[in-house]
Amino acid sequence: MKTARHELVILGGGPAGYVAAIRAAQLGIDVACIDDNPRFGGTCVRVGCIPSKALLESSHLYEEAQHKFADHGLNVGKLELDLSVMMKRKEKIVESLTGGIDMLFNRRGVTAYHGRGILRDAETVEITPSEGAADDQPTLVSADQIMLCPGSVPAQLPFVEEDGDLVGNSTAALSYPEVPEELVVIGGGYIGLELGSVWNRLGSHVVVLEAFDRIMPGLDKEMATLAHRSFKKQGMDIRTGTFVASAKVDPNPGDKKPCVVEIKDGDPIRCDRVLLATGRAPATKNLGLENAGVKLDERGFIQVNHQFETSVPGIYAIGDCIGGAMLAHKAMEEGVVCVEQMAGIASEMNYEVIPAIVFTHPEIAMVGKTEEELKEAGIDYKKGVCPLGANGRARTLGDIDGRVKVLADATTDRVLGVHIIGPRAGDMIAEAAAAMEFGASSEDIVHTCHAHPTLSEAVHEAAMAIDDRAIHTA
Ligand code: FAD
Repeated sequence: MKTARHELVILGGGPAGYVAAIRAAQLGIDVACIDDNPRFGGTCVRVGCIPSKALLESSHLYEEAQHKFADHGLNVGKLELDLSVMMKRKEKIVESLTGGIDMLFNRRGVTAYHGRGILRDAETVEITPSEGAADDQPTLVSADQIMLCPGSVPAQLPFVEEDGDLVGNSTAALSYPEVPEELVVIGGGYIGLELGSVWNRLGSHVVVLEAFDRIMPGLDKEMATLAHRSFKKQGMDIRTGTFVASAKVDPNPGDKKPCVVEIKDGDPIRCDRVLLATGRAPATKNLGLENAGVKLDERGFIQVNHQFETSVPGIYAIGDCIGGAMLAHKAMEEGVVCVEQMAGIASEMNYEVIPAIVFTHPEIAMVGKTEEELKEAGIDYKKGVCPLGANGRARTLGDIDGRVKVLADATTDRVLGVHIIGPRAGDMIAEAAAAMEFGASSEDIVHTCHAHPTLSEAVHEAAMAIDDRAIHTA
C-alpha cells in the first residue's frame, strides 16, 4: 500500500474542509484534503446552496417574466420553459465553482486525494480511491493532526419509502427531468420551502406538509407568519400541524397519480413526486471513528470541545458533523477558526452572530435572537420596524412585500437581533451581522449614514423607529 505523511489531513472537502485546507496552506501547514467525490465543494456546492440558488434565480425570472415584466412595459410574447437548459445552466455554475476549488488547492499547495477515507487509528487515514479513479491503489496517510469534516446527509423517515426518484430527497428535487404536476413536500423548513418555491414557480401544484404548528420553527414568529401568507398568495398549499403517516410509490396506481401520501387524521394525497425535506443527519457512519475512539453524542454528531477537538487528542471536527446551525458559512468560519487556533492564533467563533437566510421570494434573513427567545429568556427589549412600503428602492423594484425589525436591549440599547423579510434580505442582513459582531447599539445604526435609494435604508429606519424617530413611517 502507498503511504504518505502530512502535518494536517482533512477528511471531507465541503465548505468546512476545503476552507480549512486553504487557510491551513496559507499558514504554511503541509495539508491534504480527502473527498470521496471527484468534485470538491461538498453538499453546498454540488447539491445544496449553489444549485438550489441557481434554480431559485431561474424560476424567479420565469415568474417575473410572466407576472411582472408587463408592469415595466415589457411584453415578451409567448414565454416557454426549457427545463433542460435551466438544469444545464445550474450544472455549469456548479462545475465552475468546483473547478475553482481545484485551482485554489493547486495554487495554495493543498494535496488533494479523491477517495473514501476511513480512520485506521488516531493518526492514520486509509483512502480507498473512488470507482473509476486513474490510480485505484489505496493510500495510507498519516498525520500529526486530523480534521473530520464529513458533513451531513438528508435525514430519512422510516415511514417514507424513498425510491430515489419519485419519492426522494433534496438532491433528487434539484434535477427533476420534468415539472411535476402535483408535488408534495414533507417538511416546512428552509430546504422544503426553497425547493417547493422553485417547482411552484415552474408550474407545479405544491403541497407542503409540516408537523409543527408553523413553518420554519427557528425563525422569528412574526416573520414566519408573513412568509406563510406570502407563500399562500403564490399558490403554495401549506398545511401545518399535519402528520404524515406514510409516503410511497403505489405499485398499482391504475389511472391515478403514482405516489401516495397518507396523512394522520386526513385524506391521502396522490401526487407525481414526493420531496422529503425533514432536515439533515450527520454523516458520521462508516468513518472508522471507533478505530480511533472518537465519541459521538446521542444524535450521532461528533462531540468536540471549544477548540473543536474530539474525545481523541489531535483529532478535530467541524461543520455539519458537529451539529449546531447546519449552514455553509458556519462550517467555513469553523474551518478558519479551528486552523488558526492550531497555528496559535487567537481566533474564536461567535455563535451568537450566525446569520440565517431562506432564499425564497420574499427572502427571509435573521441574525441574533428572535422575539420569542428574548421573551423566554426574560430579556427586556425594544423593537423598531420599517415596512418596505416606506422604502423608495423597494418601490422602484416593485417589491414592497416585507419589513425589517430591529430588536435592542431595553437598558443598554445593544442590538440583540435583526429580522428581515423582503427582496435581497439575505444581502441586507450582513450589515446587521457586522453591527452585532462589533457590539453595536441601535443608536450606532441610526448614526450610520445609509446610501439612498437602497433597501438598507430600511435597516436604518427600523433602528430609528425604536425611539419613534423614523422619518418615512408614522
Ligand atoms: P458537506 O458540505 O456535506 O461536505 C462533506 C464532504 O465530505 C462531502 O463532499 C462528502 O462527500 C465528503 N465525505 C464524507 N465522508 C467522507 C469520507 N469518509 N471520505 C471522503 N469524503 C467524505 N447552507 C447555507 O449556508 N446556505 C444555503 O443556502 C444552503 N442551502 C442548502 C440547500 C440544500 C438543498 C441543502 C441540502 C443544503 C443547503 N445548505 C445551505 C447547507 C450546507 O450545504 C451545509 O451546511 C454545508 O454543506 C456543510 O458543510 P460541511 O463541509 O460540513 O459538509
